[in-house]
Amino acid sequence: MYTSLLERHRRGRKLIEITENLCKGCEICIEFCPLKVFEKSDKLNRKGYYLPVVTDEDLCVGCRLCELLCPEFAIIITNE
Ligand code: SF4
Ligand code: SF4
Repeated sequence: MYTSLLERHRRGRKLIEITENLCKGCEICIEFCPLKVFEKSDKLNRKGYYLPVVTDEDLCVGCRLCELLCPEFAIIITNE
């Protein structure tokens, strides 16, 4: 699996999109991203939930775990 992640990383930068007003602040993306790309922020969305923030998009290997695990379908990962 590790080799596969590195291969994906070599294929280019990933774009991480968070649809802020879908987020419910569950922090699953923060907990489960293997590269710790997300962290908590103090920014609230329209529903009053604290949003995750991307610390360094270049760290993302495009595994799409965050996209798959987000219960609100708030994250989309694409190749730039
Ligand atoms: S997993 Fe989805 S709903 Fe949960 S904090 Fe991350 S973006 Fe928000
Ligand atoms: S695609 Fe993978 S590495 Fe990139 S932010 Fe999501 S969980 Fe982290």
